[in-house]
Amino acid sequence: MRQLIAGNWKMNGLTEQAAGIAGPLRHGAEGLGCDLLVCPPATLIARVADILAGSGIAVGGQDCHAKASGAHTGDISAAMLRDAGASHVILGHSERRADHGESDAVVQAKTLAAIAAGLTPIVCVGETEADRVAGRQNAVVGAQLAGSLPDGFAGVVAYEPVWAIGTGRTPTEADVADMHAFIRGVLAARLGPAGSGLRILYGGSVKPSNAAALMGLPDVGGALVGGASLNAEDFLGIARAARA
Ligand code: PEP
Repeated sequence: MRQLIAGNWKMNGLTEQAAGIAGPLRHGAEGLGCDLLVCPPATLIARVADILAGSGIAVGGQDCHAKASGAHTGDISAAMLRDAGASHVILGHSERRADHGESDAVVQAKTLAAIAAGLTPIVCVGETEADRVAGRQNAVVGAQLAGSLPDGFAGVVAYEPVWAIGTGRTPTEADVADMHAFIRGVLAARLGPAGSGLRILYGGSVKPSNAAALMGLPDVGGALVGGASLNAEDFLGIARAARA
């Protein structure tokens, strides 16, 4: 399975920066053995999709509403993302779970909406530092998967320990491998053979210097990259470390 390197720009970027990142990506991505995805803020999806058209680099959203349309001021539907040029959407990121109180049930409803609109959902799970210290990371991630993934889920799972996001800290390689094996087991038990073929991304302080080690671990299907995705050279450095 080709690895997927996905960039989450979060709430960063105006028109000028979008061109400054997407333009170099378009040229630098030629010949890479992995798949690339860029998730800019919603305001930039159409522009970034234009810049990347025909490059093979996919564009995604960072969230969508669970409903297809209606009186939800300020929200964006999955069909709107698709209409703007997105093929993927990140759902249940820990920042949305924390900032917007998104529960597993909400994430599951959004996941269903994304699939219905023809988007590939990237569902994020991950434990807090307190969970990890208490040794309950598998229980926490298992519960998030049980609640966030709908039956028959077809998409991507991103394991992002909350304490590793934006901190420069990462779990040990053994801890990443253990968690990915655990998630693989949960997916296989829930989804049967289809669960064995889904990508499980690692996210949390991935950078060019640690990407080869992390991407070389079993059951790691790629990376979800925050900060380093705002620099085209760093993002491409991570992509070069990925498995074909
Ligand atoms: C993220 O927010 O999904 C993330 C992984 O961020 P960072 O790479 O900056 O830790």
